Amino acid sequence: MLFDTHAHFDDPQFDEDREQVIQSLRDYGVGNVTNIGASMETSRQAVALANQYDFIYATVGVHPGEVDELTEQDMQELKNLVLNNPKVRAIGEIGLDYHYEDADPDEQQFWFRRQLKLAEELSMPVVIHDRDSKGKCIEILEEMDVRNGVMHCFSGSAETARKLVDMGFMISFTGVLTFKNARRAVEACQAVPLERLMVETDCPYMAPEPHRGTRNFSGYVKYVAEKMAEIKGVSYEEIVRITTENAMRFYQIKNV
Ligand SMILES: [Zn+2]
Repeated sequence: MLFDTHAHFDDPQFDEDREQVIQSLRDYGVGNVTNIGASMETSRQAVALANQYDFIYATVGVHPGEVDELTEQDMQELKNLVLNNPKVRAIGEIGLDYHYEDADPDEQQFWFRRQLKLAEELSMPVVIHDRDSKGKCIEILEEMDVRNGVMHCFSGSAETARKLVDMGFMISFTGVLTFKNARRAVEACQAVPLERLMVETDCPYMAPEPHRGTRNFSGYVKYVAEKMAEIKGVSYEEIVRITTENAMRFYQIKNV
């Protein structure tokens, strides 16, 4: 069974049919999902989903685009969410995102460091979002000696992938791997050892080919796994087995 390591089923795009979509996942060969928190509100929702469905796990954390009103009290709440809910398995998604013009690098870096510290305190792995930070995100991870994490929706070079692997990181790919212009992602995937790879949808975003542009969901994670099998030159079954084992290890989940 597949493990979608990064999904956002709390998203309003699932408001109409969330229950049905989640209940259908086993028919698509999906055994587990991690629902990722990206703000205070979606962190709470991720925990609620994990508590509702036995095969859903959660992370809590605040995405760099959502940090502008964060407080120290929020950090305490994240900590309590972890301590009170055993299905919370990581802190994330956290990181840097300089894509938009209104991004405030200092503020993002402050809350990124603060949440990395929280993860350290709690001995939790981290789910990292890095967009257009031009190396700053990895610089901070190195500076804080973070070794237990995943770089999600990887879009960097093969060289960067190798560097992250050396640091101890997992590398996770989305449907971007299936896009026609994905040469860079394909090269990066080639550079990552099998035991460091994970698959994800980042749904409802990033739908893989042949569904690009539509609402994504965990059922489509098989397209990412198929492409990854082709790139790594192993069977589909082997990629499913390995990426699921990797995800179980990363999120510290026993028995499938
Ligand atoms: Zn995400």
